[in-house]
Amino acid sequence: QSVKLVAGNWKMNGLGESLAEAETLAKALKEQAAACRVALCPPATLIARMAQTLKGGVVEIGGQDCHAKASGAYTGSVSAGMVRDAGAGLVILGHSERRAGFGETDADVAAKVEAALAAGLEPIICIGETLQEREAGQAVEVVSRQVAGSLPVSLAGKAFAVAYEPVWAIGTGLTPTLEQIEEVHAAVRAAMIARLGEGGRAAPILYGGSVKPSNAAEILAVAEVGGALVGGASLKAEDFLGIIRAV
Ligand code: 13P
Repeated sequence: QSVKLVAGNWKMNGLGESLAEAETLAKALKEQAAACRVALCPPATLIARMAQTLKGGVVEIGGQDCHAKASGAYTGSVSAGMVRDAGAGLVILGHSERRAGFGETDADVAAKVEAALAAGLEPIICIGETLQEREAGQAVEVVSRQVAGSLPVSLAGKAFAVAYEPVWAIGTGLTPTLEQIEEVHAAVRAAMIARLGEGGRAAPILYGGSVKPSNAAEILAVAEVGGALVGGASLKAEDFLGIIRAV
């Protein structure tokens, strides 16, 4: 398996005290030797600042979203090229908070992925079932459909990652069992290969949802878990460093 990727999604945090903590983390990461790729995904306004702070180190920077169009009359939006220009190499797309809160569909996400690739960004494409879908026994069906709809065929041969984030595990402290994670990751891999052929074999499948230092090692050891997408625990230096050390 290829080298794992641990990415921190700061979501809409990074002002005042949380910015001070974030900068402490960024500086600590710069000194830290890691056995995996490490990325921080701050809000768009902090990308340039974090890129400056992390300059010369191995920690990568990602955005949290981008518009599907390259430029134009889209007030309030940021294009993939702008995210790249600010200093990011990666971009999270289709996070469940965007799907649920901003009505993003699989087709919207696929269009954003195309825009990211055109701008030279490595997309991290998020998928995951809701609690209702999990309880109805539809988790595998839902993520397979999301892979088919959110991954454009142009991804084959490109650098990208998929992140499996069960919606009910995000920010709740709940996680699926290791067996459930293994089952879904295997299904996601199969769906990626069905969609992209051999081009769907290499990209890492990250797990996200209540990852913390105490559960990171066992989750990251599950078959086909190629890294982690970390929310809350990526805002505290000690927690995020603990997760990286668990790889
Ligand atoms: P938590 O790690 O806070 O559960 O968030 C996960 C997530 O949504 C990362 O994108």
